[in-house]
Amino acid sequence: MARVEEILKERAYKGLLRTLRPSLCRKDGCITIDGKSYVDFCSNDYLGLSCHPKLKKASKKSIDALGTGTCASRLLSGDLEIHHTLEEATAAFKGKESALVFNSGYQANIGIISALYKEGDVVFSDKLNHASIIDGILLSGAKLIRFFHNDAGHLATLLKKERGKYKEALIITESIFSMEGDAAPLKELAALKEKYNCALMVDEAHATGIFGKHGAGMVEEQGVTEGVDYLMGTFGKALGSFGAYLACSKKIKDFLINTCRSFIYSTSLPAAVIAANLAALEVIHDEPLRRKRLLEHAAYFRNCLLKRGFRIRGSSQIVPLIIGESAGAACASDLLKKRGIWVLPIRPPTVPLKEARLRFSLSFSHDKEILKNIVNDLEKIIPV
Ligand SMILES: *Cc1c(COP(=O)(O)O)cnc(C)c1O
Repeated sequence: MARVEEILKERAYKGLLRTLRPSLCRKDGCITIDGKSYVDFCSNDYLGLSCHPKLKKASKKSIDALGTGTCASRLLSGDLEIHHTLEEATAAFKGKESALVFNSGYQANIGIISALYKEGDVVFSDKLNHASIIDGILLSGAKLIRFFHNDAGHLATLLKKERGKYKEALIITESIFSMEGDAAPLKELAALKEKYNCALMVDEAHATGIFGKHGAGMVEEQGVTEGVDYLMGTFGKALGSFGAYLACSKKIKDFLINTCRSFIYSTSLPAAVIAANLAALEVIHDEPLRRKRLLEHAAYFRNCLLKRGFRIRGSSQIVPLIIGESAGAACASDLLKKRGIWVLPIRPPTVPLKEARLRFSLSFSHDKEILKNIVNDLEKIIPV
């Protein structure tokens, strides 16, 4: 196909060709690529749980008991008791009546939204929402209306003008945004949902395990659990494992088991993954020090960068350092790589023009000394 060649060429020409970089080893906040070891700031292993002995032990034990794969959908013979144990634990963790486990966050978002909404409905979506949310809305056939990022005022204007034209309506947002590292105004969104007779869905992929008194996420931290109808999150980031969940009412869970195509037509997650997820929830409960230390380090890193005049965004463990031009961001990334730091440039169209950036994903496994050294390195590399 001519198109294949064309697109690959064009991407290469623009310096935007995506390639894979296999690593031989990744653990404890470090990664080895092409025989060289780097401190890894691209991973979402925020709490270092992917190498936690409790998770590893739980996984190994369950492989011995239950084998490696389930080899069927949950609705056939792939439904294990441990899936239900995890769903009960997840519902309790998120403060909802029930929960349903999905094979990945991507599958959860495309499946949930497209099962619940259809043509004639409307979804109000934050402009910076994740691709899986956008894909879910497109798949549903509902009208997609985007509001300015974290701008409840803009959403209110759109609701006032558009809500009346559609049957069912959904407001959807991430709670901590992956490219900005900032938090959504969940209380305001919950109030608007009430006022305009909508439902509210929140994606806690980057907040689960980190925010809130019990580490349940930003929804817990902002005290809006009641107001969120569909509380989605993943096990593959701070929880160090794999898979996703929706915490919701029992009725919605029953509905999704019957209608959600990405749930029905896919082999269920293996017991080893589910066991690790359960262990991760225990560690979140038993070791609050991890999230405390992570957020302390994030605040320290942010402060150091601000003091030296760098442009940063957000208020979480994700620290975007705005550089501006794509070439500048790529160059800064290369120079840091030479100093043993793995942080990749994020460029348009992933982020707006002139806002190319380095996105530092901090981890519990990085100590303060490393962060301090990076700030010193950055000062030499980037003119402020
Ligand atoms: C990572 C991510 C997902 C997808 O989750 P996977 O389990 O990796 O498929 C969904 N939503 C957001 C906001 C994410 O950051």
